[in-house]
Amino acid sequence: CGIIGFTGDKPVKNILINGLEQLEYRGYDSAGIAVLGDKGVIIKKRTGKVAQLREAAMDLSDGALCGIGHTRWATHGGVTDVNAHPHKSGKVVIIHNGIIENYRELIVEYGLKNKLVSETDTEVVAALLDTLYSGDPIKTIKKAVERISGSFALCIMFEDHPGVIYAVRNVSPMVAATFGDCSMIASDITAIIPYTKKYFVVPEYHILTIDKGNIKCENLSGEVIEPEMLEVSWDI
Ligand code: GLU
Repeated sequence: CGIIGFTGDKPVKNILINGLEQLEYRGYDSAGIAVLGDKGVIIKKRTGKVAQLREAAMDLSDGALCGIGHTRWATHGGVTDVNAHPHKSGKVVIIHNGIIENYRELIVEYGLKNKLVSETDTEVVAALLDTLYSGDPIKTIKKAVERISGSFALCIMFEDHPGVIYAVRNVSPMVAATFGDCSMIASDITAIIPYTKKYFVVPEYHILTIDKGNIKCENLSGEVIEPEMLEVSWDI
């Protein structure tokens, strides 16, 4: 139910967990983070409160500067640690808000069954991305997005593309911002306001390449667009 992503020149772990706390008011049953640093992708996820995730992540070093975080409101699959996000398949790790309506068809069409360890619709997208992945994240995401239907706000990291987060959405909300050498994405502005008041609404069916301090936004035909910048006038 909540999404946060950060890449920049600051340790990411606490930025993610603090961001998830800002999003707690939306309601959730599980929380998790994935960081991508020198040791590759490391995931911590738990049912329960963000405070429990914070405890579970105590042994995680502060080295990584890029990562994604999620609070889940279960729609497909029970409330379990395994079903909590992020979900990883091969080199691909994702978080997702929303519902993938055709996940059963995708499992059959792409033979994904034995790649799955959870009961979620979300993990099917991770497995699909991993199956389609040939080293080019944008091409892969584009192909996957053309096949999935439903509501989604997705943040994706590829283990062989450190420092970069990719994002795409339909219906489910997502906003993004840059400040200094940092970039952030979140399901709503409350998680970003502590850092900056300037942001943009992620346009539907556009793929974001979120790099340190720089965000590229392109449509599914590869045309780069400049999203309209907005500014919040209130504090939290
Ligand atoms: N449908 C996904 C799940 O049940 C995502 C739910 C959400 O938006 O948090 O895992």
